[in-house]
Amino acid sequence: MASYAHLVARERCPGCSAEIAGLTMDLIGFQWGYCPSRQPWNDLFYRVGDAIRWRLDDKGRIPPWVYFVGALQGGNVGDPSARDLLVRALDLNGYGLTCAACGMSDIAISIRGGHIVGLEPGLADCDIAVVGPDGQMHPRPDWDHHPMPEIPKVRSRTLATGEGLVIAGKRAP
Ligand SMILES: [Zn+2]
Repeated sequence: MASYAHLVARERCPGCSAEIAGLTMDLIGFQWGYCPSRQPWNDLFYRVGDAIRWRLDDKGRIPPWVYFVGALQGGNVGDPSARDLLVRALDLNGYGLTCAACGMSDIAISIRGGHIVGLEPGLADCDIAVVGPDGQMHPRPDWDHHPMPEIPKVRSRTLATGEGLVIAGKRAP
């Protein structure tokens, strides 16, 4: 059931700076923002620096924490009002990345101001942590299994930033 977004990046381990080995096509999976499919979806791969994308409903709003009805089971995972956070970095099987060089696990994708900035050490006990204005990590274990109801069929394929700015050239499948 789970859907993923993917970052294409040759990133270094936040623990030891070795290149993360064993990634398929440099793909790092995660679950935040619009996640189009269970499988990697080339048209929507992220690069470092990209704004997190959200799918709009037919009224132009971003429904948080929903699946969109459809064969691919895409969904908006999370809530765009959270703009500074860490989300667990995953391999293509949905397991957390581990650095082969130093053994660090619990590696996270760092999102600041709604943009992907790179990898950081993550948290052991949950997949998402919100970063407060003070830089403090606020673990959100309650978000690991947040309810994701399906919403009735949405026709719009438009994607937008968390502020609702439409992203040209990127559409939901
Ligand atoms: Zn390492």
